[in-house]
Amino acid sequence: MRPAEQRIVEYASFSGWVDRVELAAALDLPAPTVTTAVRKLLAAGSLVAGDTDTGSGRAGRPRQRLRVAGPAPMTGLVSWSHDRLRLRLLDPSGELVRELGREQPVPDAGAHGLSPAVAELVAAAGQVADRRLAAVVVSVPAPFLRGTGTPVEHLGAEDCPRRFPVRSSAGAERALSEEHGIPVLLENDANLGALGELVHGAGAGVDFVHLTIGRHGFGSGVVVNGRLVRGARGYTGELAHLQMDHDGPLCTCGGRGCLWMQLRHLTAMQEGAPATTLDFADLPDRAVAGDAGAARLLRDVGRTIGRPLAQLCTMLDPHRLVLDGALGPAMDHLVRGIRESFSVDAPPAVADNIEVVVSPLRAADVLGACELPCEHARHA
Ligand SMILES: [Zn+2]
Repeated sequence: MRPAEQRIVEYASFSGWVDRVELAAALDLPAPTVTTAVRKLLAAGSLVAGDTDTGSGRAGRPRQRLRVAGPAPMTGLVSWSHDRLRLRLLDPSGELVRELGREQPVPDAGAHGLSPAVAELVAAAGQVADRRLAAVVVSVPAPFLRGTGTPVEHLGAEDCPRRFPVRSSAGAERALSEEHGIPVLLENDANLGALGELVHGAGAGVDFVHLTIGRHGFGSGVVVNGRLVRGARGYTGELAHLQMDHDGPLCTCGGRGCLWMQLRHLTAMQEGAPATTLDFADLPDRAVAGDAGAARLLRDVGRTIGRPLAQLCTMLDPHRLVLDGALGPAMDHLVRGIRESFSVDAPPAVADNIEVVVSPLRAADVLGACELPCEHARHA
């Protein structure tokens, strides 16, 4: 098989339905090369043709849709938060097909960089899938760069225990991919969220900063010119570790006075909240139910996040700030605080023009995980 045909089959196996124009653009191949390769792959039965997309309102000829022969492959997503490690098998549209979970504290990554528990779930993905797997994605809730791994935690981490089952990915992706015969890709969870918004949400066709706020943390990703920006070390968009206070407490990242530590302090003001982690607990529910104190605290959180966000957006000048909708109606209070900060901390050119959008997506990271193998194939 010639490389162009190989690349087309690989890309189509990740992305479900595609057409020739998308293949040429995504794989940077000349249109005649794609046409010739697709003709051969259709004749060989490797690709099958579907309906013709007339593309209402789109200029140009109708496009014939194509996909790899056989059932659509699934993507495995390994993720964790606090004490739950889980594997989800997803179809190309992000729908959950099957889930395996482990209610146990996630063991530390250890000296070898990858927890055996994560490696076991990657292996389990291949065993429990009843149809072909396109890839397994490991979502990492920490600053992370493919090929480099997560930074080592520093002094000051003792009172803020955040343990990650992936420490370093040097060789881990390649070794796992070779062992299981499918691509195994590791990626920062906030980057997955931004990727999901780029393809399926409020980020199509614009430069945007994506902010994910869950009940146990937050993260951000940056998309410019239609591509996720990772930076030289994977630190692009690491809002949590922007310094807010020169003399603040040491952070797990080794810095001092980070936004992460400020938010931890703020959320610990709620009754019953643990003082050692960032935990919104039932704050969003109480705010929606009319608890004025909870609403105020969420607004304060929005203002605190808004200050460095305003600086970031002044530097980048994106079209939109896209906020994950995971907290539901409680996001209104956060958005109010963020807007207040922008009006004070950003110049009018940014504050008056940036669109602040709460995404309708509730699981952008899941959609991003389904997109990651495509992105990897596109830029490989
Ligand atoms: Zn930090």
